[in-house]
Amino acid sequence: MNNFDEISRVIQKNKNFLITSHINLDGDGIGSELALYFILKKLNKKVTILNQDRIPKIYDFLPDSDKVQYWNNNRINPKSIDVGIALDCSSIKRIGRTYEIFKDIKTIINIDHHKSNENFGNLNYLDCSASSVGEIIYELITFLNIDLLDEKISTCLFTALITDTGSFRYSNVSSKTFGVASHLTRYRIKSHLIANNIYNRSTYPGLKLLGESLLTLEMDDSNYVSWLAITRKMLNDTNANDEDIEGIINIATTLNNVEISILFRETKDNKIKVSFRSKGNFDVNKFAGKFKGGGHPNAAGCLCSGKLDEIKEKILSKLFKEIKPCEE
Ligand code: 5GP
Ligand code: MN
Repeated sequence: MNNFDEISRVIQKNKNFLITSHINLDGDGIGSELALYFILKKLNKKVTILNQDRIPKIYDFLPDSDKVQYWNNNRINPKSIDVGIALDCSSIKRIGRTYEIFKDIKTIINIDHHKSNENFGNLNYLDCSASSVGEIIYELITFLNIDLLDEKISTCLFTALITDTGSFRYSNVSSKTFGVASHLTRYRIKSHLIANNIYNRSTYPGLKLLGESLLTLEMDDSNYVSWLAITRKMLNDTNANDEDIEGIINIATTLNNVEISILFRETKDNKIKVSFRSKGNFDVNKFAGKFKGGGHPNAAGCLCSGKLDEIKEKILSKLFKEIKPCEE
């Protein structure tokens, strides 16, 4: 693994940077990207952010979010880029189609907090104890020059922190996380407005979809596992879109005694995306790995080919073979 000193030397030596994150962009991905983008700009670098997917609407309040490019509107020539930076990606596959540009960039920096990270960069910085990549970017800033921190950057980093920690509720929260959050709030960020933007802008179709998906909620006899499903038909009937699905899995997790929750959903391209959440010691990252997926011990996912009912049956039966309901 490389250290901040080595990463900072590569930053100093080069001029043109391209930042990316994973498919199905989340708050840690976009918040960390924008924070690093502002830092690099302050260091007089030329910086572009490109993701496979568009920014979810809930993050449109972030400064310069309108400057972020996505695959279908990008105009990037890989020859013009000196350094590519992948944030919050455990493997290079997670960047999706932007790989078509990244594969031709000479120097790749990989900054991540997933235990399963494959060290795919020319430089790799991995901190599995960090709640979020936002927390790592904060530390990189303190290494580079803490005076670079400002209200805009703090807003982006705070977004990364609250979204990856479920508003400081998950087991990835450490005293360091609270220390970083506390320091960020000194930069006049409006944490209540950030939270409002992310959590209180549901759409009517989105809430109808939530209602429909709760009708599919099931539990096993021991109340150890809960699961739900979202079909394309449900999305069509409610007029909701894929972004409205974000957060629905977390509701299944709130059930008393339930340790593991699963959401099965049909994607636009006829695949089945499975999301796993765990409240205790069951490692869903390991379990998702059995289906070529990954993530964190308490939040992971995988993408499967097949019919929703078949995938549901396959995954649930494998899970029930593995779990021991009495184990805490
Ligand atoms: P979500 O269920 O919210 O999409 O993802 C939860 C966590 O699992 C995130 O950390 C995400 O990066 C990871 N994850 C989701 N889907 C996949 C996947 O197909 N492969 C891998 N390696 N990680 C995934
Ligand atoms: Mn993350």
